[in-house]
Amino acid sequence: MTVAEHRIDGFRVHVVHVPAKTTHSHGSGDVSGINAAILELSTDTGLTGWGEASPWPVFTGTVEGSAAALHTYLRPHVLGADPVQVTRLMHVADSVLVGHFEAKAALECALLDLAGQIAGLSIAEMSGGISRTEIGLSFSVANPDFDADLEDVARLWEDGVRLFKLKTGFKDHEFDLMRLERLRALYDDEMGLRIDYNQGLAAYDAIRTVRDLEAFRPDFVEQPVKRHERAALAAITQAVDVPVMADESVFGVVEAVEGAHMRIADIFSLKIMKSGGIRRCLEVAAVARAAGIGVYCGCMFETSIAHAAGTHLAAALPELTLGCEFYMSTYFASADITDPRLPVSDGKVRLPQGAGLGVRPDPDALARHRIEFLDRQ
Ligand SMILES: [Mg+2]
Repeated sequence: MTVAEHRIDGFRVHVVHVPAKTTHSHGSGDVSGINAAILELSTDTGLTGWGEASPWPVFTGTVEGSAAALHTYLRPHVLGADPVQVTRLMHVADSVLVGHFEAKAALECALLDLAGQIAGLSIAEMSGGISRTEIGLSFSVANPDFDADLEDVARLWEDGVRLFKLKTGFKDHEFDLMRLERLRALYDDEMGLRIDYNQGLAAYDAIRTVRDLEAFRPDFVEQPVKRHERAALAAITQAVDVPVMADESVFGVVEAVEGAHMRIADIFSLKIMKSGGIRRCLEVAAVARAAGIGVYCGCMFETSIAHAAGTHLAAALPELTLGCEFYMSTYFASADITDPRLPVSDGKVRLPQGAGLGVRPDPDALARHRIEFLDRQ
């Protein structure tokens, strides 16, 4: 049997801005919208594959950098290639461009979208098979106006959301304790409460600060100290009872190996934007599995395109029990660019159906939010 040849003959980057409903404060910076570089690959056989780079300047990089990485540095190596050659193309991407993990996540996603359409399989199926079709959704409580947050939490509770992550460390410790006390008093232990410092604590008194929070029975405390303060993170993990999650401290598999060796955390947060794609996240998950470290599926500020990619990753992970945070397209952004949107119902993210990614932009919505378009030079 001969397999039809497909060649990539179109490589377009749509830079979009989607405003948020409200500003979120995340310790390391305020966020008021989604800034993404959306990659559109097309083939000479009439297929179209989509991917998204959604950086956060204080965490992974900039949308301008992602757009340039895709358009200027990666495009010449992708045009003319067979989209099924995903591993080889991503190896080339790593060899011609250092870093820029969000751009590589976008490229990998668009390639996998095409490869899945060619194979008649979803990305989750091509990533080893589907372990779950729904994932518990965690919403981030991050509004400086806590009363407004309480209204959001009440509305999401009605929608069936039971996981809430409190962003801490952007005001004082008393503010954080007050919010934890209110949430526990209002929702008791029915609420899965998580805490994320986004590197916001000083290493010298992080242990006693985290110990103060343990009375509120959080599922985990995320990234209390700076990315590079790995010894401090290991010391906190050893000192406190609540599980500690590493987010900013573990981008890819090399940091995962080092982090596992130092036991810097009990859980690693997986994000396609920091690892450079779904398969790189699966490598981090494999290290975590070998070391007895749990995993969680986080994200940046993303549209449904990147959320769908993250959902395929989450669906392919047998050991994922802590949920995911792909809430932006449903609860944070004022609009989305896809049709259909990422399916969310009853507090759970649902795996998109169909071959490849399972979601794609609505042309009108994409045009409405596009601020720059990069095609052939
Ligand atoms: Mg985090």
